[in-house]
Amino acid sequence: MSTTINHYINGAETAGEGERTQPVYNPATGAVTGELRLANRADLDTAVAAAKAAAVSWNDISLAKRTGVLFRFRELVAAHVDDLAALITAEHGKVLSDAKGEIARGLEVVEFACGIPQQLKGDYSDQVSTGIDVFSFRQPLGVVAGITPFNFPVMVPLWMAPMAIATGNAFILKPSERDPSASLLLAKLWSEAGLPDGVFQVLHGDKETVDGLLTHPDIDGISFVGSTPIAQYVHETATAHGKRVQALGGAKNHAIVLPDADLASAADHLSAAAFGSAGERCMAISVAVAVGDAADLLVKNVEERAAAITVANGTDPQADMGPVITPASKERIVRIITEAEQAGAAMVVDGRSLVVEGHEEGFWVGPTVLDHVSSEMSAYTEEIFGPVLVVVRVDTLEDGITLINANPYGNGTAIFTSSGAAARKFQREVTVGMIGINVPLPVPVAYHSFGGWKASLFGDKHIYGPEGVSFYTRGKVVTSRWPEPTHASGASYNFPSNSTD
Ligand code: NAD
Repeated sequence: MSTTINHYINGAETAGEGERTQPVYNPATGAVTGELRLANRADLDTAVAAAKAAAVSWNDISLAKRTGVLFRFRELVAAHVDDLAALITAEHGKVLSDAKGEIARGLEVVEFACGIPQQLKGDYSDQVSTGIDVFSFRQPLGVVAGITPFNFPVMVPLWMAPMAIATGNAFILKPSERDPSASLLLAKLWSEAGLPDGVFQVLHGDKETVDGLLTHPDIDGISFVGSTPIAQYVHETATAHGKRVQALGGAKNHAIVLPDADLASAADHLSAAAFGSAGERCMAISVAVAVGDAADLLVKNVEERAAAITVANGTDPQADMGPVITPASKERIVRIITEAEQAGAAMVVDGRSLVVEGHEEGFWVGPTVLDHVSSEMSAYTEEIFGPVLVVVRVDTLEDGITLINANPYGNGTAIFTSSGAAARKFQREVTVGMIGINVPLPVPVAYHSFGGWKASLFGDKHIYGPEGVSFYTRGKVVTSRWPEPTHASGASYNFPSNSTD
């Protein structure tokens, strides 16, 4: 059965005025399950006008009341984990336990935002000159929009919205059109938590809506997470229209495995990090860099684990991995595997022809392992974003670091080793934003910030945590004097100096 998926504007679900729609699929069955409404210009203007009005009154509400809403929202999300996970699995395809995992990571950001009064305390300098004090504090940008990818339909919106809202902004979410339903439930939970109308809104759409957000004169900031070409486009377009922008892009995450590592444990972690969520994670490990003698045993161990993975509908409790997101995505992944095979890579595990019984119309690709991949092959140069682990063999740790640093992406990376000296060299020398040491998916906790380097991030600020607070606010510095009425004014035609008073 197909349902209509509406916008959430100014505190209510609405069909809006846009006439265009787009189908939403269940990737495990291939069936159309929803008809998504796409916003037109009038819908965009209505949402932005509501956000602009709401931003002013929301910023006037006391910090105590604001955080009260965040605490209630936190409880509501926690109470609806099963509902949110079911929506994620039905439209994204990831297994239910993984869907719950992404909600848990999103909740960590909500919890950080519950402590926003601590983050918004300003600085105060007493008596910088006689009778003069200086203090600084931060205020919200106003109206900010978040444009999010398909692969984390709850977590990535929760990287942005709680931070933007806690710091006093109104937030418009433009979710991925592939799995948009969870964002509507989030909107309802915000309202139930007592958030005033217009502070959190959901506007569905495609490029047309995104372009409207990037250029709208009443939008002050844009947070984007998605692929690198779109991240770069979003950054260039929105900054050219005077907006503050953080745009997180794609990735090609390498894990170096040294011969001194526990190779069985490294293979467990590599397999989970490469094939979990069908490899559709921006922090997935997609390249294993096997150093020297580590290679043969590592590949054998990974082969065993990949072959044992249960691929099934994400609602099946036995499933380790679900389908990929679209037929186009499957086609791209299969093409890249075939190109690698033709270019001389060794096929260790081949997932191209996998079909799940009873789900023949689903978008399936099984776990795939390719060995002896070189840096010229498309399996190395392209972001595959599917369940494919490529193994590149190198002679030394230095060679591995050189390979990583020559790669245009710089999101995450990991090293498996028992040598502290090797790990320390690695953490100091790689040009990558997030590093794991014997940790394959080093997604920072919410009180640190998340962000890559190079083609994985456009803009200055990482997302959530302290950098998120900084992104969604701007500073004010006040220099104040409260003179006694009887004192001389102290006014001077010279530039004010604090040391000669
Ligand atoms: P995508 O770039 O196709 O889409 C992201 C968003 O941009 C969506 O909301 C989409 O509607 C919009 N969009 C798509 N094409 C557009 C266009 N031409 N003009 C304007 N807007 C457009 O990404 P995706 O396929 O949804 O997500 C997967 C990608 O996201 C991968 O590259 C992955 O690495 C990346 N990602 C990165 C991070 C990170 O933290 N760096 C996190 C998650 C996902």
